[in-house]
Amino acid sequence: MTELTRMTAVDLAAGIKKKEFSAVDVAKAHFDQIAAVDKKLNAFLFIDEDGAMAQAANVDKKLASGEFLGPLAGVPVAVKDIFTQKDIPTTCGSRILENWRPPYDSTVVSRMKNADMVLLGKVNMDEFAMGSSTETSAYGPTTNPWDTSRIPGGSSGGSSAAVAGFLAPLAVGTDTGGSIRQPAAVTGTVGVKPTYGGISRYGIVALASSLDQAGPFARTVLDAALLHQAIAGYDPLDSTSINQPIPDFVAAAKHKDIAGMKLGIVKEFAGEGYQAGVLNRFNEAVAILRNLGAEIVELSCPSFTYALAAYYLIQPSECSSNLARFDGMRYGLRVDDGDSSVEQVMAATRAAGFGPEVKRRIIIGTYALSSGYYDAYYGSAQKVRRLIADDFNAAFSQVDALISPTSPITAFKIGEKLNDPMAMYLNDICTIPVNLAGVGGMSVPIGLADEDNLPAGMQIMAPVMCDDRMYRVAGALESALVSSWGGLLLDKAPRL
Ligand code: GLN
Repeated sequence: MTELTRMTAVDLAAGIKKKEFSAVDVAKAHFDQIAAVDKKLNAFLFIDEDGAMAQAANVDKKLASGEFLGPLAGVPVAVKDIFTQKDIPTTCGSRILENWRPPYDSTVVSRMKNADMVLLGKVNMDEFAMGSSTETSAYGPTTNPWDTSRIPGGSSGGSSAAVAGFLAPLAVGTDTGGSIRQPAAVTGTVGVKPTYGGISRYGIVALASSLDQAGPFARTVLDAALLHQAIAGYDPLDSTSINQPIPDFVAAAKHKDIAGMKLGIVKEFAGEGYQAGVLNRFNEAVAILRNLGAEIVELSCPSFTYALAAYYLIQPSECSSNLARFDGMRYGLRVDDGDSSVEQVMAATRAAGFGPEVKRRIIIGTYALSSGYYDAYYGSAQKVRRLIADDFNAAFSQVDALISPTSPITAFKIGEKLNDPMAMYLNDICTIPVNLAGVGGMSVPIGLADEDNLPAGMQIMAPVMCDDRMYRVAGALESALVSSWGGLLLDKAPRL
């Protein structure tokens, strides 16, 4: 039998239902793997072995008594430490939330619990999801299972490393500018940033509320679709949640036929700064899509060139406002010598609790929103945002979906870019326009770059509430690639 930790979510759920193994066996195998290799990865910040074993035992009990079980019952999942989970520490990768235990479940967590999934624990992330490498976490960086001297992407690097390192078949993350897609690309996993409003943000610690979206990580397109289906859909607790029926992602992932679909290559996403080996894999994947019967056209989205600049005004502006709540009064850390004014306690708490990247963003955002500069910075950035959405609309009037590399480069070395914010920000050059427009984007593995034998990803983008199209394209591409590789890309990764 295949090792339990190397199986897909689909096969795990089927095996549990057929009683080939129990949900408890599955959970235990994953905790053994975590104990064996997480010293090298530092993916988990909190391991909830007791809670998870109880959930697994409950699945086995329900099965024994003939109760109905959903498609992911008994399947383990790793949860980014940005989702609240009742009574479980939620740090957001920050000292300021150390020891904070939320009194409630986020909607994503409660839907996974209702689906009888087994929540293994909380995984590492860049502090407050600001970063592309997991290095800004106050709890040390997570490493990439392909090469532990390299970053696993970020900010959801604990999620990508857990899935790529076989610590969990599934994970959830969040994506404000690329934080699901870029980590997926550099670890050879599948990562999906749904349409804005497609998954509830209730109980997710806010970074930039108009950009944040939760989404799944998996090793296969179908597994990602199943998790997406389980957590998606309207939630009255999130005022930006879309009240519409969700498309059938699972059927789309299984469809496999893309003959006649029209796909657009975004011309702006190539050239200087793109690693040759990443572009080679991208061009080969495009040829495969063409062979499968898709019509490929090249088109221009000229405003995308300004996306990074607009994002680094809008995102810090929203984050400066959202992070004002961490004041030493309400949650977590409080630095108080007993002899200070309220203002001094707030200042001391924020000085000690936030890391340098978070402080940098709060300062930029506060400046961009200040009277006198508001129109010049924040106001202009919002206008650019409109132009980017217009470019997407024009593109989607000609094609069903857009494609590009996910990240211009493969996983870089830990420490290489940490002191160069601009170099770090460029990792998201292809992913940021998607968040600014609120459309869907996903990353699917397309092979190893020639220079360094590290994973590269293709980004597939689809119009609002058409995320099923991404699964259809990704599912077809994955089947063709997996048959040419003779297995998943991740099977080529060195064993930890
Ligand atoms: N890397 C980007 C940033 O630092 C995106 C982060 C994210 O998507 N959460 O803001």
